[in-house]
Amino acid sequence: MPTYRELLQRVKSEISEVDARDVQERNGAVLVDVRERDEWEEGHIPGAVHIPRGNLESRIENAVPDRSSKVVLYCASGARSAFGAKALGELGYEDVSSLAGGFTDWKRNGYEVQLPRSLSPERRTRYSRHLLIPEVGEAGQLKLLDTSILLIGAGGLGSPASLYLAAAGVGRIGIVDADIVDETNLQRQIAHSLDTLGTPKVDSAKRTIEALNPDVEVVPYRERLTSENIDRILGDGWDLIVDGADNFPTRYLVNDASVWHDVPVVHGSIYRFEGQVTVFKPGDGPCYRCLFPEPPPAELAPSCAEGGVLGVLPGIVGSLQTNEAIKLAIGIGDTLVGRLLLFDALSTEFSEVRIDRNPDCPVCGEHPTITEYIDYVEFCAR
Ligand SMILES: [Zn+2]
Repeated sequence: MPTYRELLQRVKSEISEVDARDVQERNGAVLVDVRERDEWEEGHIPGAVHIPRGNLESRIENAVPDRSSKVVLYCASGARSAFGAKALGELGYEDVSSLAGGFTDWKRNGYEVQLPRSLSPERRTRYSRHLLIPEVGEAGQLKLLDTSILLIGAGGLGSPASLYLAAAGVGRIGIVDADIVDETNLQRQIAHSLDTLGTPKVDSAKRTIEALNPDVEVVPYRERLTSENIDRILGDGWDLIVDGADNFPTRYLVNDASVWHDVPVVHGSIYRFEGQVTVFKPGDGPCYRCLFPEPPPAELAPSCAEGGVLGVLPGIVGSLQTNEAIKLAIGIGDTLVGRLLLFDALSTEFSEVRIDRNPDCPVCGEHPTITEYIDYVEFCAR
């Protein structure tokens, strides 16, 4: 068995290395910083894209779709990027190299460094109650402003989630929803109002968010999520999905996509007085199919027509989802990964069930049997 040092030397002999001056000249190369997020935030090479080493294989295709592109990886010292360069070579990237000496050597040469930003006075005022919490602070607020969150649904769960995410200063919020606002929505869907009856929910939610916080860019998708559009929508680059879907077909699509695109999902569901929340983080805890490998037979499944629900319940569950999303975005606290939180509004009781990854899961297990999206359309045909 080789030692780490021997392995590193062997890998370095198998890849191409460049020095800081080559990177300075760039020559059209895509520069990828593979360090962790806190290292990136303390300063990085201008124009680089950030993909932590742990996500490199799963995210590189979105960042660099063309495998013949020139790619240069760097880390702090040139070791992580060497292993990364070897992995990209194995993925079929033809022109990959690693910056020898890494960011340390780049700085030593006196080349330009993009330093951490700070908040403008207006933003310091707006987010002052976040800045007063040491765990969030300016660094945490900047992370929120840099975070992109995709909301599935602008209904009961999506309404409170969109408003609190926007108020918190999440910089980019995508909203997927094909529906139009109607009177029955207003009992709980607080992103909409009498003023927006008859308009698409995505436009109504966008209006409400923009009136609340101009820092937020809203990306509306006025379409129903299907196997046909899900890769395109996820290709727009989302750090996190907040799933407020009210039906099985969408839930399974979101799950499978999240595993394949390596994007965590904050899951929520509601029925009458009962709510559930958890976080499905690929590679770190179960996915939805670990718990429910297939949808229930159509005759046992609740129909896709909306069931009854106490109006405030989605407010509670959607807010709990937002709490998870904000913690994941900033990287603080303990999340609901591996824990299913249950809420009973009638008794006002919370309980929690531990949920484990299933090695036989058809999507995230050791031998996946589902490798393409499935539209479970029969559920909604009734
Ligand atoms: Zn799974």
